[in-house]
Formats: sequence, structure tokens, C-alpha cells
Amino acid sequence: MKLAVNQITTNDLGMKDAVDLYAAHGVEGITVWEDKVRDFGPRETRALIRDSGLEVSGFCIVGLFSKEGRSGRQAQIDAARASIDLAAELGAPCAVTVVGGLLPDTKSLPETRAFCFDALNEVVEHARAAKLPLALEALHPMYVPDWSVVSTLAEANDWCDRLGDGVGLAVDVYHTWWDPAVETGIREAADKNRLLTFHVNDWLMETKSLLLDRGIPGQGVIDLPWFVDLMRGCGYDDWVEVEIFSETLWGGDQGELVADIAAATRAIIDSGARR
Ligand code: ZN
Repeated sequence: MKLAVNQITTNDLGMKDAVDLYAAHGVEGITVWEDKVRDFGPRETRALIRDSGLEVSGFCIVGLFSKEGRSGRQAQIDAARASIDLAAELGAPCAVTVVGGLLPDTKSLPETRAFCFDALNEVVEHARAAKLPLALEALHPMYVPDWSVVSTLAEANDWCDRLGDGVGLAVDVYHTWWDPAVETGIREAADKNRLLTFHVNDWLMETKSLLLDRGIPGQGVIDLPWFVDLMRGCGYDDWVEVEIFSETLWGGDQGELVADIAAATRAIIDSGARR
């Protein structure tokens, strides 16, 4: 397994500072956020990353189809297609897809899920043509109102079954660790050859924010070696992407943060490999 840092983890850094810092700490990949590509544009960004010795491990994010309501549907689909093109231009192996939360004018989850599914279905063909797989990410149910009406791996697997080629899963420990069916979901995804990427971070016991208070791997309550063992046992040997949304960590020394992350995550990956 290779170590990557998702650049939301060092959100206040521009593209060049993030790339330089990750490379200096032996990190092998960077998960690129679309807004950070604006610093230099896609071609220069790709060259900058390559010249540093890093690889692009992934791209965030495609989707949020319900975010602008029903009238914003086409604009979100067009934006998703443009994001796919950008991710492909950067050489990303996949693009993380988050479908969006409740539609603003309804409290109906089935209706919103159908809306988001249909929009994603319209985008998948574009992803296939661009040879850029979409990594559908189920988010913890606390994000149903604003980020994702897909909350479990079982549901994400079902969507993949119905969408066909070009879509797989992003497994994020933060969103799935609580789920009694997490192992079944990962094994099903592996059997269907759709484990595209693996996000790690930690759930802090006293979480202060639903969105912006994740922990460094090992500092919270998630059994990360168990996850690593399971993913490896399922034949996954690709990117481990550290993705931490944390206002506390963004406010600290970013060099120390990346050093801590690299050491902690490698120790977890290695502990799994020794068993
Ligand atoms: Zn994630």
C-alpha cells in the first residue's frame, strides 16, 4: 500500500507548498482538490507534482447533484463532466464522487436519492469515455442533510450494480467504521473488483464539529489496523489516502502535521502487514 495525503488535510497551503511538504516527508501521492488546481492550471500542476516525485492518487470531488436544487440539476451535471475532464488531464486514477444531500424543497429521501442517482447516471458515460472511474463515496449518515444521501457501503454497492462499468467505491473509515455491515460491503466491492480507493483519518471521542474535527490516524476510536488488514486481505494494495478535515489541525504547524501523519499512518499500514 502506498501513502498519499489528501490536500484538504493541509487546506491553507497552496498547491506548490503542499506538494513540496508532502515530498519532503516521503509521502508518495497527493489527492488533488479541484480549487487548488487554479493556482497554476492543470498542465503546470501535473508537471509540478510529477517533478516532485509524487503521483496524483485521486481527485476531489465530482457530484453534489442536489446541492443547487432541481433547477440547478443541469449545471451540476455539466460541472461534474468538466471535473472529470480535469481529473483525467491531471492523470488521476479515479475521481471521488459524493452525490449530494437532501434536495432543498423536500424532506423525501427516496425522492432525493432517485434525483441524485439519475443525475449520476447521466454523468457515468462521460467518465467511461474519459477512462476515469468514479469512486462513489458513502458518507456517514450525519451528512444526509447537506452532503450525501448515500450513507452505507451496501447502498453504494447497489448503486454501482445499477450504474454498471465506470463506477466503484471509495471506502472512508470515518464514514463506515460504525456500520455492522462494513466488512460485508468491502468484501462485496472486492469481489466485484470495485475497490478504487481507501481514505483514512480517525473519529475523535469528543468530536466538536460534524465536518471539521477529524483526527490523525491512531488518535481516535477507529480500529484502523483492522481496516487495513481487511482491505489488504481483499487484495487491495493501492493508495491509502489520509484525508483529515480539521480546523484545529489547519491552525497548527503544517510541517509537523504531515510528519505526524506520515509516521502514524505508515505504522498502521506496517502493523497490519506484520500480522
Ligand atoms: Zn473520504
